[in-house]
Amino acid sequence: MIIDGKQAAADLRVALANEVKALKESKGITPSLTVVLVGEDPASQVYVRNKAKQTMEVGMISNEIKMPADTSQTALLSQLALLNNDASIHGILVQLPLPKHIDESVVISAINPEKDVDGFHAMNSGRLLNGEAGALVPCTPQGCIILAKQHLGDDLSGQHAVVIGRSNIVGKPVALLLLQENCTVTIAHSRTKNLPEVCQQADILVAAVGRANFVQASWVKKGATVIDVGINRIEADSSEGKGSAKAKLVGDVDFDAVSEVCGAITPVPGGVGPMTIACLLKNTLEAAKLYG
Ligand code: NAD
Repeated sequence: MIIDGKQAAADLRVALANEVKALKESKGITPSLTVVLVGEDPASQVYVRNKAKQTMEVGMISNEIKMPADTSQTALLSQLALLNNDASIHGILVQLPLPKHIDESVVISAINPEKDVDGFHAMNSGRLLNGEAGALVPCTPQGCIILAKQHLGDDLSGQHAVVIGRSNIVGKPVALLLLQENCTVTIAHSRTKNLPEVCQQADILVAAVGRANFVQASWVKKGATVIDVGINRIEADSSEGKGSAKAKLVGDVDFDAVSEVCGAITPVPGGVGPMTIACLLKNTLEAAKLYG
């Protein structure tokens, strides 16, 4: 079975639009998201445009602040202070990566944790670690859990989940969320020995590595649920003929071969990717409800 992330994200956006409408009617609050983009990275510009479009589609207010690539760290921090103190703004997202002269960790720490809809502030990671209420949880990991539940149902208790990758953005938070769901969790990473054997244990296998087609069919237990977070741009197969795109996106999992073995798998594109923005909107609504 292919887990359709595009459809799941569309369904989530419909549910969010209804909740936004209800919040407006009951409390007079319209959730509002401000995205700050420093520099002109083309991929970031596309992400920011998509975020703005989808934010407005669910009835939220979308603001974009564009700052030049040579913006100083001090100027960016001053801008964030203004946004932190603006009660009409519920969510602040600084588009990453930032230009090299700016320290990302300083910038993330400067966002009011109550408006940190990316969920990267240490206060939010700490709350997630402690299982405390009020955490704004990183978006891609939330999307992974929703997609795993599409196939397995709401109860993931006792499943052995193996997460490949230990980044603060994906690997660690997705492992914590799986633990909260009562899974037995193994985190594998670049120093893990016998990775194929570790992966073979997985009922749920989450790949967040950043290496095209890395996970092989022989690593996957029959019937496992495979969540592929990777987004890797590779050269398109020349056999696709003239006029075919020069590059294509693939995941961290060798999709065709693994599909033959696993019980369910998220495709790339069309799996975890679309869930990320939908979960960003979910966090913005959550921030408006909790702290608005
Ligand atoms: P990262 O580079 O920060 O982390 C990669 C992790 O993979 C590291 O923890 C490392 O230990 C592990 N790793 C590297 N080589 C390995 C190996 N040979 N064996 C085992 N583990 C290995 O990347 P990230 O930010 O966590 O992103 C991972 C992937 O997910 C990337 O392809 C990224 O583009 C994608 N991503 C997708 C979304 C989305 O919306 N779908 C969001 C964020 C990231």
